[in-house]
Amino acid sequence: MSKERLIVIGGNAAGMSAASQVRRQRPEYEIIAFEQSPHTSYSA
Ligand SMILES: Cc1cc2nc3c(=O)[nH]c(=O)nc-3n(C[C@H](O)[C@H](O)[C@H](O)COP(=O)(O)OP(=O)(O)OC[C@H]3O[C@@H](n4cnc5c(N)ncnc54)[C@H](O)[C@@H]3O)c2cc1C
Repeated sequence: MSKERLIVIGGNAAGMSAASQVRRQRPEYEIIAFEQSPHTSYSA
């Protein structure tokens, strides 16, 4: 069975909010976030 995957481009407010919502609602998803800068938002 194939695993569902979320690819997030951009690790600031929108990207990390989307990633954290999907982590809570669909814990089985694999989530990969790409951020061009050295840091991501951590308050999402
Ligand atoms: C001067 C200013 C002051 C503000 N003050 C406030 C405030 O006081 N309170 C408030 O709530 N909002 C404020 N905002 C608005 C807030 O900053 C934005 O609404 C919010 O940052 C938008 O988040 P975002 O994730 O949609 O986009 P962005 O913050 O633009 O994040 C996009 C991310 O994608 C990354 N990225 C871009 N291209 C690539 C790529 N090709 N590969 C990988 N990563 C990539 C960037 O590095 C960035 O981290 C302010 C905005 C500005 C400009």
